Parts: sequence; structure tokens; C-alpha cells
Amino acid sequence: MRRINIAIDGFSSCGKSTLAKQLAHHLGYTYIDSGAMYRAIALYVIENGLVIEGKLDKPNLLRVLDKIDISFKHDDATQRSETMLDGRNVEHKIRGMEVSRHVTLVSPVPEVRAKLVQLQKALGKDGGVVMDGRDIGTVVFPHAEVKLYMTARPEIRAKRRYLELVGRGVEVDYASVLENIERRDDDDTKREADPLLKAPDALEIDNSDLTATEQFDLALGHVVKTIGVVAEA
Ligand code: C5P
Repeated sequence: MRRINIAIDGFSSCGKSTLAKQLAHHLGYTYIDSGAMYRAIALYVIENGLVIEGKLDKPNLLRVLDKIDISFKHDDATQRSETMLDGRNVEHKIRGMEVSRHVTLVSPVPEVRAKLVQLQKALGKDGGVVMDGRDIGTVVFPHAEVKLYMTARPEIRAKRRYLELVGRGVEVDYASVLENIERRDDDDTKREADPLLKAPDALEIDNSDLTATEQFDLALGHVVKTIGVVAEA
């Protein structure tokens, strides 16, 4: 069976990863979270003193950028993919609010994007990948046969993210989660390098009032229409 790449883009916390994981599981594809890579670079700059008074020390980041190693390790027990930064498992750390607050310092940097896009393209070179992010259908896999563009109202996204963080034991308040989501939406859509855009050939899904199952059925229907019937993995 032909293995395609599926590109899922959209705003922060609008259920992209839930849908991407469901599709990957159903199709027997690999799920890749491109946002985790930007988060790993954000963690690197925080930990290495490259944020000074809230500003990125870009010259020093560019000096070491080539040497920063980002990879994923599949954990068979949890069936989850863990993000590795220079050989260290940082999956938990990159999900916290500190990284969320700093990630849009590094994501607009063209050199950071070039490095990560190259890695993302390499991961998808043989097909069979579901990748989510902001520029997957426009830059990483512009020829992907299936592209989804997801949206949801900011308050709904903030509530989902808040509950997810609390569920993971992170101490956080709803107002700062909403504030962070709105600021990242703004940063991600207005930046010069590879801003969040709907690819002209993407199917837009507003999941504000959809359950995860309804959303999955809609997306799978689109996949089936595009590539034909798919056997369950
Ligand atoms: O998807 P997630 O919210 O974890 O992404 C964190 C941040 O990484 C986004 O707010 C965005 O600035 C950046 N990002 C990006 N391009 C991608 C994926 C994420 O710029 N393909």
C-alpha cells in the first residue's frame, strides 16, 4: 500500500497532536511532533544562558546551532515518542510553561527553521509520516497529498491545554495559559519566516464543537477520499 505523508497545521493547542496520533495509529504511520523540536531548542537557550533580559542571544545560538542534536526515541512501553536533546530525554521539560513562554524567541530565527525543516524533511523522505506543526503543509511537505488545517476558538484551546497541564501535575493558572496561547498565535502568524498559513489545498477543520471521534472521522474520511481505502494497521 502506498504510504503518503500527512501534514497537519494549526494554532497552538487545537488538538493537532491528538488527531495526528490517532491517524498515525490507524494507518500504521509514524507521528512526528515538529513543535517538540522548536521546544527543545527553546529549552537549550534557557539552560545555556542564551536568554538575556527576555531577549535571545542570537549570535551565540548561531555559533552552536549546528552542534545541537535533536532526535526522538520511541518508548515501546508507553507507545510514545520522547524528545531527546543532546542525548537527554527532555520530553517532560519541554512541555512546561517556561518553554512555552520562550519558544517564540527561537521559532522565528531562519537558521533554526532551516535546521529543523531539513530534519523534518529527512524524517518524511520515505512517506508514512503524520507530522503536525505550523508550516508542514506549506514548507516541510508542500506536496503532501493530505493537508489538514485546524482551528478552534482560543478559550476552548486554553481550557483544553489548562486541563492537560493540570492533569500532568503542572502548576498553572487558566489566565496565563490563555495569554500564552494568544501571544503565540500572534507571533506564529505574524513572523516573517514560514508563518502559520493555511495551504490552499488544505482541508480546514474547526474543532471547537467537535468531539475527538467526530474530528477523527472527518479527517479519516478525507484521507480515504484522497488515497483510497486504507487497511487498519
Ligand atoms: O506545536 P507546539 O505548540 O508545541 O509548538 C511550539 C511552538 O513551536 C509554536 O508556538 C511555534 O512557535 C513553533 N513551531 C513552529 N513551526 C512548527 C512547529 C512549531 O514555528 N512547524
